[in-house]
Amino acid sequence: MMVKSLSELRYACLFCTQTGHTVREGDATVFLSQEQLLRHLSRHPQPLPEVPGVTVLYGKAGHGHGHSLEEDYDLHFPDPPAPTPMPETSFSTLPTATAVRSHVRKPGDMRPPTDPDGSEDILQFLPGARIVGVEFPARWGGNWCMGWHDGVRAAFPFKHVEIDRPKPSEISYNANSSVSVKARWKWSPKLGSDEPRWLPLEKGDSIRNVGWVYQDHWCWSGTNSKGKTGVFPSSHIDPVSVREVVKPATSKPPSVKSMKLSSVKQSSAIRGLMGRRTIHRANDPSLTWEGVAAQIKFPTQPR
Ligand SMILES: [Zn+2]
Repeated sequence: MMVKSLSELRYACLFCTQTGHTVREGDATVFLSQEQLLRHLSRHPQPLPEVPGVTVLYGKAGHGHGHSLEEDYDLHFPDPPAPTPMPETSFSTLPTATAVRSHVRKPGDMRPPTDPDGSEDILQFLPGARIVGVEFPARWGGNWCMGWHDGVRAAFPFKHVEIDRPKPSEISYNANSSVSVKARWKWSPKLGSDEPRWLPLEKGDSIRNVGWVYQDHWCWSGTNSKGKTGVFPSSHIDPVSVREVVKPATSKPPSVKSMKLSSVKQSSAIRGLMGRRTIHRANDPSLTWEGVAAQIKFPTQPR
């Protein structure tokens, strides 16, 4: 591939280039080293796509059969495809992202970059790279993510990527929804005029009329206090803030009921947070917790 300087060699896969698509979502299209390219090739389903002028030999090369191909090939795969470390399960509940700037370890770095936990196993990618299965561990406050790229799952800074907009089938607006939530982190995506519209979040923002295709899906919709409606990642919502306001049948004040998030969404970090809240409440009766206060004030109406 063309590069600006000799020190930065880049490689591409002839076979993916020929077919115009990668083998798996989240595969790299530009490789930083021969090692990374060979690892990619080893995971290609066989036989590989035909590329004019490229002779590929499969299986153990025999000796003395006089087969001309055995001495005249460009690429030899003695073994069947190597397994990919990506799990078989689909990442459809999680967002995908596109890199907007590179995140690579430079050779000879005196202090190699680490994730906030101090691990040097960071996710490396170049601009335009697709990252799938993006998650926001609670302890990183929305600043760092975990995700898969080129068969590797590791951490990367959120500011190096943009979350891909959801497909229309992944969105459910629900103006009649009585679910309200609070943002736990700021979310300031690039807005533009593309549909669907993102709903930017400030920490502590209240969002009402919250909708989703299903609750565990990453993309929720809602309306903020200024009346703006849009979609946002549910990762940026405080999991214990999810409330359903039950519309009163009488003139009594509306009751508020806490909604249970499914166990899938509750990471150990979130469970830890909930546990700490319980301890605070037990030890310090003066400390109010909005949800609890609301429940005490307005007991749930029997329905
Ligand atoms: Zn390829």
